[in-house]
Amino acid sequence: MSERAVPFHCPYCGDENLFPREGAGAWECRSCLRSFTVQMTGMIPHPGTGGAP
Ligand SMILES: [Zn+2]
Repeated sequence: MSERAVPFHCPYCGDENLFPREGAGAWECRSCLRSFTVQMTGMIPHPGTGGAP
């Protein structure tokens, strides 16, 4: 599975000044100088196909 999830906005300050952080699989925001990763936590049921009415 690909680990490449590309954030378009910093989740902390909302800026788009994001750059991949080498080696860490992380991203760094050069506006608020935070580094973070984007992690998928699981799958959700497809809406409209069974499950809760
Ligand atoms: Zn930021």
